[in-house]
Amino acid sequence: MSIPFTYDSPAENNDVESLKRAISNKLMFSIGKDPYAANDKDWMDAVFLAVRDRMVERWMETTRAQYSQDVKRVYYLSMEFLIGRAFGNALIALNLQDEVRQALDEMGVSLEDLLKEESDAALGNGGLGRLAACFLDSMATLGIPGMGYGIRYQFGMFKQRIIEGRQVEAPDTWLGSVNILDFPRDEVCYRVCFGGRLELDGEKVRWVDTQHDVLAVAHDIIIPGYDTTATNTLRLWTARSTREINLSKFNEGDYFSAVAEKNVSENVSRVLYPDDSTYSGKELRLRQEYFFCSASLQDILHRYRLTHESLDELPNKIAIHLNDTHPVLAVPELMRLLHDEYQLDWDTAWEYTGKIFSYTNHTLMSEALECWPVDMLGRLLPRHLRIIFDINDRFLKDVAARFPNDPDLLRRVSLIEEGGERKVRMGYLAVVASHTVNGVSELHSELMKTSIFADFARIFPERFTNVTNGITPRRWLALANEPLSRLIDDAIGKTWRVRLDELAELRDKVDFPQFIQHFRDAKHANKERLAKYVARTLGGYINPDALFDVQVKRIHEYKRQLLNVLHVITRYNRIIKHPEKAFQPRVVIFAGKAASAYKTAKLIIQLINDVGVKINNDPRVGDKLKVVFIPNYSVSLAEIIIPAADLSEQISTAGTEASGTGNMKFALNGALTIGTLDGANVEIREAVGPDNIFIFGQTADEVETRRKNGYNPREIYEGNRELREVLNQLASGFFCPQEPERYRFLYDVLVNWGDHYQLLADYQSYIDAQDKVDDLYARPDEWARRAILNVAGMGKFSSDRTIAEYAERIWHTKPVKL
Ligand SMILES: *Cc1c(COP(=O)(O)O)cnc(C)c1O
Repeated sequence: MSIPFTYDSPAENNDVESLKRAISNKLMFSIGKDPYAANDKDWMDAVFLAVRDRMVERWMETTRAQYSQDVKRVYYLSMEFLIGRAFGNALIALNLQDEVRQALDEMGVSLEDLLKEESDAALGNGGLGRLAACFLDSMATLGIPGMGYGIRYQFGMFKQRIIEGRQVEAPDTWLGSVNILDFPRDEVCYRVCFGGRLELDGEKVRWVDTQHDVLAVAHDIIIPGYDTTATNTLRLWTARSTREINLSKFNEGDYFSAVAEKNVSENVSRVLYPDDSTYSGKELRLRQEYFFCSASLQDILHRYRLTHESLDELPNKIAIHLNDTHPVLAVPELMRLLHDEYQLDWDTAWEYTGKIFSYTNHTLMSEALECWPVDMLGRLLPRHLRIIFDINDRFLKDVAARFPNDPDLLRRVSLIEEGGERKVRMGYLAVVASHTVNGVSELHSELMKTSIFADFARIFPERFTNVTNGITPRRWLALANEPLSRLIDDAIGKTWRVRLDELAELRDKVDFPQFIQHFRDAKHANKERLAKYVARTLGGYINPDALFDVQVKRIHEYKRQLLNVLHVITRYNRIIKHPEKAFQPRVVIFAGKAASAYKTAKLIIQLINDVGVKINNDPRVGDKLKVVFIPNYSVSLAEIIIPAADLSEQISTAGTEASGTGNMKFALNGALTIGTLDGANVEIREAVGPDNIFIFGQTADEVETRRKNGYNPREIYEGNRELREVLNQLASGFFCPQEPERYRFLYDVLVNWGDHYQLLADYQSYIDAQDKVDDLYARPDEWARRAILNVAGMGKFSSDRTIAEYAERIWHTKPVKL
């Protein structure tokens, strides 16, 4: 079918003159301002609109090609997408940076100023959400017909301010008045039901009398591929009440309760849960999870049926990926839709389900494993609870038949945890329903099979695999680090943006003093940029010639920011004790948010700030040591901090960090890592060579052994003079004389209460490694040589490689032809 439809193709008008005209038109007719009245935000909106037109055309082409080729689709379900700013990324994808910069210059506007006007789309907490965003970028770039599904939170990740050293949270109002990022699709709208009861009708089960139903309305965000017309979609759901207002109450004059009902049902997409790696079992969270799973599954089946008569081809045409267990209600929801709504028999529906789903595990820590109380699930989603019970019955029968000699096995692998409050184990459901389960680094995937999923690895050995995480080189090098990108372009050409392996060619450059010098210049420029940012936002001066030692990530005990602080205090004590000695000047930089309810993490933030005040104002220290906590860590802030780092702190207790992706961003930007053999650090060491990374501390096995054999941190405390002094300073209020007991709790956690993350066990080895860092930094060319070898070794850690592995080994899908 062909529809007569002509429009002005923006793609043919990418010269500077045409862009100026397009931007002017947007400013006039879409924003409603002329250049005399327009502020930076208006200009940003106008340019973004002009650039967006150039993406829309590609988007339509891709969509048409996907339908006409009837390709297999990948649906990536994630509660979080930590996208950051979209505009600068779009310019890179379309290769329009230079033209747009010049067009704006000629109109007297600076592109750099405009880029700062966009607020981050912070619809995620940290690594898991950022991974989803990198994956969207790579799927589009590789032409994989993928679509992301998530929630369009009205309030994303909270804004962090530091007031008197403490974290204070403020709501994130990212949705401004002009909304350019997403296209509302009011007509793409599904009813999501809650509550009610089950009615039995012979073999059939009917879910009836649901209450507090809510409508899910789609909003589409364009995901441009880099240097390709391939363009994908991120579809985010927003909740809308099924009734705008309660008319009878409105008629009675009770206006407020008339709208209250609407507000309650729309709360489901109101706010992102700001918890990272802990699980709290709140009913609103369960509602959110079901809300977006149900809407997405209804939409997926609707889209499939637009071009297919029967369901026979379903498992060959769709793959659904579960980003952690948060979307695992999609499993019983697909069963419900196929069995109850589309009348497939149970066995066929289950066969399809098992061919469609795959699942990524992101953590082994027990406090992060989702378990929903049977009572709550039964009240909110009675049909789904029944389906889960039915899945469990069949699964346990199967296991009993295959493993008749292990009677305890059934209790261990049951989807229902018995004893005490009965709970549904969502991770187990994900494993039972998926054809493939992957961890996110080699170490993590191995540990997964010997710890939380050990029994399942025996029952379904073929299901378990590894796909090591990656990051997109477009945002994390091309966009974030112009000086280094330009240097690499000059040395090896520009195609590393899509073939990151080509960075290996930089290994030949380390013998050229001039290249080393240029590399050092690029790093210095990035450090100056960060120093300016710190001066502007915090008011303090940091010296770009000092070693920038950086730990930026969520604040969590397992990530051990506190171990970093122990080193900082040790160094401070040495400086005071040896005023005559030269010390390698260092700036220790922290950033990161603590979950609002996580007391210990918040106390660690306060400690960093108190230690900073003491050290930064001690005239005996001077330039030798500075401590900076930069507030409100976010994707945009990461883009400024990471390129400026000399040293990357990746110091989690071995066995706790599933992969990490921050570690990859730093190495790609030419920082050396100081880290434990945890997560992807293990593979980074292999890739860059053991001489070019500072590894310290216990291995995951050693941590486990120590835990089993009874670990006594007090013994370590008593046996180490420097450590003892540092911990006594914590306990005695040395850093907060106004409230001497403030950090007693942290002292107790480490010395008296078991030091769960074994900071004291790794302390001396960490200090020794930091001493080696100083020695090497005193030889700047040798440092730079090793930093370059880090960049050169990062090819493997492109999310393009990661996505190519998922596409081939898990989703079995191919790129669309354009
Ligand atoms: C990459 C990234 C993370 C993850 O960092 P890790 O060090 O892997 O924990 C978290 N937050 C933001 C904003 C990021 O860009």
